[in-house]
Formats: sequence, C-alpha cells, structure tokens
Amino acid sequence: MDVTQETLYLLKEKGIRVTPQRQAILEYLKHVDTHPNAEEIYAHIRTKFAGISLGTIYNSLNMLCDKGLIQELAYGDTFSRFDGNPMPHDHIVCDVCRKVVDYHGPLLDNLLDLAQQESGFAIKGYRLELHGVCPACQN
Ligand code: ZN
Ligand code: MN
Repeated sequence: MDVTQETLYLLKEKGIRVTPQRQAILEYLKHVDTHPNAEEIYAHIRTKFAGISLGTIYNSLNMLCDKGLIQELAYGDTFSRFDGNPMPHDHIVCDVCRKVVDYHGPLLDNLLDLAQQESGFAIKGYRLELHGVCPACQN
C-alpha cells in the first residue's frame, strides 16, 4: 500500500470525512521525520492548496491527534510539533538548532516495570525527552 492509499484507509477507518486537505496533511506527516510545527505544515500544504488557512491546518491537526493518527509533541514555552507516527517513541532535541529526531532504544524497558512495582501505579505511559547537541551543530 502506498502512502496515499494508506492515509485514505486510515482516515476512513477512523470515521473522518476525507478531504484532499486532510489527506495531504496526514500524507505529509507520514513522509517527513522532521516533526514540523503547524507553520511549517501550513507552508507546505499551501503550495498545493493555495486557499487553505492556518486555522484549517490547526483544526485538522487537532482532529488527527484526537483520532490517534498523529501525535502532538508539546514543548511548554514554544510551539508544538507534530509527528506522523502515533506510536509511543522517544525524541532527542538539539539545544542549538531545535531539531527533533526519533530515538528508538531500549532505554525504559525495565524502568517502567520498576516504577510500577515501586509506586503501585498502573503505569499507562511516560514522557521522556533527551536533549543535547546534534552532530551537525557539533561542527
Ligand atoms: Zn542541531
Ligand atoms: Mn517521532
């Protein structure tokens, strides 16, 4: 299944009315691994749909988040970024250029079990954010 078919399928499966704009947003987020913010998504989508507003972008992003097709990465003091991969995974943020990259590692496998045992909580999730200086910014 190519990305266009996949996004069409996902939208229909979640009962979302398919519009070319919504599909383009989801497709864009599935294509990139840069975790763009709403302004960046807007800049890209606007090249295909000249009349689209930033408000429509925000509404679509909220809906796609609510339906679990994408995830929002909120960074407190600054704008949110969006991730086309809704599955839990960790991120590393560059302190210099603010780039956000995926980190798929075994970091927390045991820690979650341990936290559950020690706290008595039924742990449902966690949020981990690594930060540092990316390879490009080290030069
Ligand atoms: Zn950097
Ligand atoms: Mn990610």
